[in-house]
Amino acid sequence: MSRKYLDILKARGAFQCVECGKCVAMCPMAETSPGFSRVKSPRGVVQQALRGMDDMPGVESCLQCRSCSQTCPAGVDVAGLIADLRRLQARAQLSLCSSCGAPLLPADAGRYLEGAVNAGFEGEIVYASLCPACRRRAYIRNNS
Ligand code: SF4
Ligand code: SF4
Repeated sequence: MSRKYLDILKARGAFQCVECGKCVAMCPMAETSPGFSRVKSPRGVVQQALRGMDDMPGVESCLQCRSCSQTCPAGVDVAGLIADLRRLQARAQLSLCSSCGAPLLPADAGRYLEGAVNAGFEGEIVYASLCPACRRRAYIRNNS
């Protein structure tokens, strides 16, 4: 578990969870999310986060209504925790610019682009690995 991950758990009060289930009773995901289960529930997300699990389906299905955070008697900001975990997951799916390290494209889009380049745009692969600013600089450098 990384330092950043631990900081998020502490800041959102996840360690205070007493597994009472009050957040589950208030959560609309039971109606809005097909296949709602204990794992997808806000309590489930908190418990999985405390175990350092990577795959948390409740994180994607959450509506961010904040009912869970307002209801929790232990002061866990479940909605805030879920928002933070979403950001972490989104960041993990980004590719980084091979020149300056800036976030570039979601990994799936990056793979698609790489496939398209490999299929017929020989010589362009270097641009596909750069963020827009570095791509522009490389283009100017290569064409001036
Ligand atoms: S309401 Fe709070 S203490 Fe109860 S299960 Fe949900 S997060 Fe844990
Ligand atoms: S913020 Fe998300 S997890 Fe919390 S009650 Fe609303 S939908 Fe459920």
